[in-house]
Amino acid sequence: MKTISAKAGNVLIGGGNPLVVQTMCNTHTSDVDATVAQCLRLHQAGARMVRITVPGPADVEHVKAIKEKLREAGADFPIVADIHFSSATAKLVAPYVEKVRINPGNFHRDHQEAMRQFASLVGECREYGTAIRIGINHGSLGDYITGLYGNTPQAMALAAMEWLRKCIELDFFNVVVSLKSSNTIVMVQAYRELVKLMEEAGYMFPLHLGVTEAGNGDSGRIKSCVGISSLLSEGIGDTLRVSLTEDPEEELPVARYLAARYDRRIVSSVTSIHLSGRKAVACYDSPSRETLLMDASCDFGKRLLDREIDDLELDGTYRDDSGRAVSVKESGFGAYLVDELMQASRRRFYKPEYVACPGCGRTMYDLQAAFEEVKARTSHLKGKVIAVMGCIVNGPGEMADADWGYVGEGGHKVTIYKKKTPVLRHVPDTEAVDRLLELIEEDDAQGS
Ligand code: SF4
Repeated sequence: MKTISAKAGNVLIGGGNPLVVQTMCNTHTSDVDATVAQCLRLHQAGARMVRITVPGPADVEHVKAIKEKLREAGADFPIVADIHFSSATAKLVAPYVEKVRINPGNFHRDHQEAMRQFASLVGECREYGTAIRIGINHGSLGDYITGLYGNTPQAMALAAMEWLRKCIELDFFNVVVSLKSSNTIVMVQAYRELVKLMEEAGYMFPLHLGVTEAGNGDSGRIKSCVGISSLLSEGIGDTLRVSLTEDPEEELPVARYLAARYDRRIVSSVTSIHLSGRKAVACYDSPSRETLLMDASCDFGKRLLDREIDDLELDGTYRDDSGRAVSVKESGFGAYLVDELMQASRRRFYKPEYVACPGCGRTMYDLQAAFEEVKARTSHLKGKVIAVMGCIVNGPGEMADADWGYVGEGGHKVTIYKKKTPVLRHVPDTEAVDRLLELIEEDDAQGS
């Protein structure tokens, strides 16, 4: 077995190196000063590499300016260019960044042409020492792959293997792979499948882990911990991003926690676990609410996901902000956390399932505020999957299995989707949630 490590500037990924925490800017790349400032803040907060979106060739100049200013500020951490669709943009920016993130399946509808463009990009990256992340997302597999293998975790793994085989054929190994989904079961199965396929092929490429479009708040953190920790606990994963629909700085405490826990630098605050049939009863002595939330998610996420247990009860204490011990059970936090964990591991749904992207430089509206409004006004719609996406270019393709989508167009307009079909376009954002609720009601009345 050849275990591969990728090199993005001064950061090594995989091959037994420590887990690499990363995140992504949500500034507009054309706003060079804001992007530089955010990159520096994110690095300061623990990101060892930072991704920025590169929507088109015109942004390559902005990337060059950002890199220049970062160098002047003495910053040498790797910058990753996030590319959608355009291999030409990827080739143009490759000399100026340490890594490019692409989904080569989206380079072209014709698979052979996409392969040719990928090989050409590999040539450019080889010349400049730039790493590549092959980023396959559940929501955007492309017709070629879904036509061959369906829209499944196996299809994601097989899609990634096609590109990895091309890398092997081209003798290019500066490569990381990701297989993200907002569905924790799909995400975990896809990575496990890919590991199996890579073992069979004799090459173990480094893996970038993430639960995409995880949403925000407790739910986003719990979903991310459940998916990512399930794999890290099996020794799968080399770098990770926790994607939250919040300011990217907020992702880093969770990402740092996961890296520290699975690099074996911290242990859970659980003090005892008893099994009663297929129910686990766990007692905690946690230093904070957030620690309890992350500890319990990592202690039990995989067991729930893999159906090793069917239920959970949490007891013990955590410390509030003033240092006072709070009873997990009597405060109601334990029962709430169990509900959230059940939903994150897709065992029991107690509220709607939200899919929301973190937003990035392509976002042209106040995504965080819109998501909060949609959540507040749809909280009664248990069983529905509702997506809130930051841009009209990639959002619809990335919504995966959402029943309804709220996609910001920019200019205070929204498009509402039913599954993958746009049903109302250019709705003023002041009315969009009302229209969404009306459409859902009409649809439910028709029994579809
Ligand atoms: Fe950025 Fe969201 Fe659009 Fe993805 S869907 S490109 S994260 S705004």
